[in-house]
Amino acid sequence: MSYNKKTVKDVDVKGKKVLLRCDFNVPMAKDGSGVITDDKRIRAALPTIQYLLEQGAAVIACSHMGKPEPSFEKFVKKGTEKGKDPAKLTEEAWKKSLADLTLAPVANRLGELLGMDIIMAKDVVGEDAQAKAAALQPGQILLLENTRFEKGEKKNDPEFTKALASMADVYVSDAFGAVHRCHASTAGVADYLPAVSGFLIQKELDFIGGALANPKRPLVAILGGSKVSSKIGVINNLLEIADTIIIGGGMAYTFSAAQGGKIGNSLFEADWQEYALEMIKKAADKGVKLLLPVDTVCGDKFGPDANTLTVTAGQIPDGWEGMDIGPKTVELYCNAVKDAGTVIWNGPMGVFEFPAFAAGTEAVAEALSKTEAITIIGGGDSAAAVQQLGYADKMTHISTGGGASLEFMEGKDLPGVSCLLDA
Ligand code: ADP
Ligand code: MG
Repeated sequence: MSYNKKTVKDVDVKGKKVLLRCDFNVPMAKDGSGVITDDKRIRAALPTIQYLLEQGAAVIACSHMGKPEPSFEKFVKKGTEKGKDPAKLTEEAWKKSLADLTLAPVANRLGELLGMDIIMAKDVVGEDAQAKAAALQPGQILLLENTRFEKGEKKNDPEFTKALASMADVYVSDAFGAVHRCHASTAGVADYLPAVSGFLIQKELDFIGGALANPKRPLVAILGGSKVSSKIGVINNLLEIADTIIIGGGMAYTFSAAQGGKIGNSLFEADWQEYALEMIKKAADKGVKLLLPVDTVCGDKFGPDANTLTVTAGQIPDGWEGMDIGPKTVELYCNAVKDAGTVIWNGPMGVFEFPAFAAGTEAVAEALSKTEAITIIGGGDSAAAVQQLGYADKMTHISTGGGASLEFMEGKDLPGVSCLLDA
């Protein structure tokens, strides 16, 4: 997959209708009040929107929100499977579940941020949307309803995709969080319209793509998080590219157990021990430096008020579980990133959500904040950790896509990127 894609700056959008795929999947208050609890994703979309308006485009924005069930039959079927009271699985309840996922609150917030009225469509490609899109003037913004209200969205159904594309002249994709999905609005429409990236996707391609394709060396990859099984793809791909790989987090214990260590009640995936040994061998064969923890901070239970004990790696007593990397490991890892050219970090070093076990993650974040290296953070929890610990503005790039950034680091083809025109 080429990471070098045309952007909004490479097309003339003056007087054109631009279908702009945003990631407006914002968290909403659980009480159905329509209050947006974090508008970060809406604010992140502003530079591309403002640029398009300045260039004289009419913007037709679209996004999904949550996981609505677009068919009543399936709503009933899934509800029944989940053991819900059949009396509550009415058509009215279904309609309310959809109404709760309207993008109308996003239109309001977007309007406030831009200081202008946003025209909200009642549907995605229905009569209302079509009429409003047809009447849309340069400098105006139309927001379509939640794309997942349509069955055709996730199926990338040609009828729906064509209807969506028919409203516009150009497609701009700026929803990095959804580029790993091959849906109508994230990839399908590019079959019918010239397709380019917005500024958000461009930045992700520049930084993550740049680090994967042509990194400033040495490239150090720090991999943590909970499970080996969820990170195999990332480890595999980065073993091919990185000069040093650092392993932390819960997955380190499967490596430790595979090497004969005692890991107590630590997170452990027996089926992945052999794989762990293979990775150690592969790294050695390739001359990639692979660093594993040399000590561990344990807890006597999985909780914020656990008693703690620091031990040498592989010597965790019964009844204790590894919750963070220890101080010697911190020193080792922080030294390893000091002279890096690029650092890619995915996965916290410990259970950072509990302050007693956040020290390892925080020390690594601090070390990254002090290097001259290009520092790239991928993964939803890793981004949250860096934010929570107060180091967000010290990193070169924090990816806006959780699942998408993982698949990117796995070297997978991203449908929402590969569908864009090559530069
Ligand atoms: P990301 O979303 O950045 O890809 P993951 O989802 O893989 O990261 O992992 C994040 C989670 O891993 C965090 O919630 C953290 O608490 C957990 N974690 C880290 N270290 C451990 C550990 N030693 N034991 C259990 N869970 C851990
Ligand atoms: Mg996660």
